[in-house]
Amino acid sequence: MSDKSTSAAPQAVWQASVLTLFPEAFPGVLGASIIGGAQKSGIWALETVDIRDFSVNRHRTVDSPPSGGGPGMVLKPDVAAKAIDSVASSSESFEGRPLIYLTPRGKPLTQKRVRELASGPGLIVFCGRFEGLDQRVIESRQMEEISIGDYVLAGGEVAAQVLIEACVRLLPGVLGDAQSASEESFEDGLLEYPLYTKPREFEDRAIPEVLLSGDHKKIATWRRQKSEEITKARRPDLWQAYENGDDHERD
Ligand code: SAM
Repeated sequence: MSDKSTSAAPQAVWQASVLTLFPEAFPGVLGASIIGGAQKSGIWALETVDIRDFSVNRHRTVDSPPSGGGPGMVLKPDVAAKAIDSVASSSESFEGRPLIYLTPRGKPLTQKRVRELASGPGLIVFCGRFEGLDQRVIESRQMEEISIGDYVLAGGEVAAQVLIEACVRLLPGVLGDAQSASEESFEDGLLEYPLYTKPREFEDRAIPEVLLSGDHKKIATWRRQKSEEITKARRPDLWQAYENGDDHERD
């Protein structure tokens, strides 16, 4: 009889390194609920790097005015590069982990990219502040630019928590029910159907009869129909791709 406890390879820890001017903003929401629990049980690990520690002057300056004029300040490339390189040289698992710069100018984050990132060894995230980061360090360190939506936040910290949470919940062992991730919005190119639970009546609104019928085929058909209606009404872009039979895992 084989002994699985000795033959199974240990699962690698998914590692998130976050470069930020506000390390105190972490773990933030990542310390709560199933994501925090998964960190405690060693499924993933979080490291924060204070960008200010890499300032090159005694005033701990990290920003300076934009070349060419204009409002605000820009994160200095020399400071940012030193902070990034410190992760590269200190971390054994840097290899294979993409270096991501969160910015409204980036490629919109999709569930497909989240799934790819979750299946890798982890990620390194640079949180911008002020007007953003000097272009030269984005290019020289070949940073992948990702946006979490078409709106502007004050800094990349909340965006980093969004990205990390989306990845961590997909790691093996994080979600209790293996099905809960596979039936969600975006997994098949459609938005999720409406959800109901007890009580049967709530403020004169009843749970749709079909969901109480016990007929799993009818329930699946009703859910698919609702998913299609909602997607068509709310997200014409997703609906178009679904109708065209495009790869539902958008780039
Ligand atoms: N000047 C920038 C622009 O117009 O695109 C906005 C800078 S924003 C005030 C400061 C930082 O917040 C950015 O460098 C970025 O790291 C982060 N940030 C803001 N909105 C974001 C979004 N939608 N997605 C990802 N990061 C965002």
